[in-house]
Amino acid sequence: MSRVLVLANQKGGVAKTTSTLNLGVALHELGHGVLIVDMDPQGNLTMSQGLDPDEVNPSMNEVLTQGISIEDVIYKRELDIAVASIDLAGAEQVLMSVIGRERAMSRALMQVKHLYDFVLIDTPPSLGLLTINALTAADSVIVPVQCEYLSMRGLAQLQGTLELVRENLNPDVKLGGILPTMFDSRTRHGMEAVELLRESFGELVFDTVIRKTIKFAEAPVEGISVLKYAPSSDAAESYRSLAREVLNGKKV
Ligand code: ADP
Ligand code: MG
Repeated sequence: MSRVLVLANQKGGVAKTTSTLNLGVALHELGHGVLIVDMDPQGNLTMSQGLDPDEVNPSMNEVLTQGISIEDVIYKRELDIAVASIDLAGAEQVLMSVIGRERAMSRALMQVKHLYDFVLIDTPPSLGLLTINALTAADSVIVPVQCEYLSMRGLAQLQGTLELVRENLNPDVKLGGILPTMFDSRTRHGMEAVELLRESFGELVFDTVIRKTIKFAEAPVEGISVLKYAPSSDAAESYRSLAREVLNGKKV
């Protein structure tokens, strides 16, 4: 049984892309088949596996708007990755006039889902049609949140969107877990933000907290995950710990 996990938060820079790749690689290390899918026209996930979003063609854009097989846009890197290019930015507009526009992603995944244990989808920083497509295809949503007071404010809006998706498109999708990221233990603000998150969302918050470290910015430059770039670092270990939480199934 394969599981589709979507990493979503309409705020940018909260570690959606970083978490998609590194959680994916951690699950893969533990012996699971993993496909990662780049649904962000900025193509950061694609870049983080050493591929150039300006060069790849076709990409998820053609999968969603022209119905080509997702297999045609999957590259074999550390993980299998379905790539994005900048023209994916036009996909929302094109899909608008399509019947079943919210289901393009689930349709695309049907062809390959059975080949993997996990499909992880990275989404753009908005709650537009690309993100809705991902949520419609999802079993579960993981929400990375930066450990700052202000970054929690968008969570209600995201929960609202998820509720609408549940009512109209995908009754079974659940909020799998909230992942505190970019945690700085040296500041009181960071500590308080995590406490506040746990007070507000309780069990929904993962035990794993991802600390702030420059390694997360360095690894993508090399086109590899942190688990490969610095295998024995705390940074790598934290995503392995997240993978174990995902696998123990209490949340996600
Ligand atoms: P998003 O996909 O939500 O926009 P990214 O994963 O691209 O966020 O992360 C934004 C930036 O922060 C990137 O440059 C990334 O390398 C960096 N980053 C991600 N996680 C961490 C972390 N734990 N510590 C420090 N920098 C991080
Ligand atoms: Mg991103």
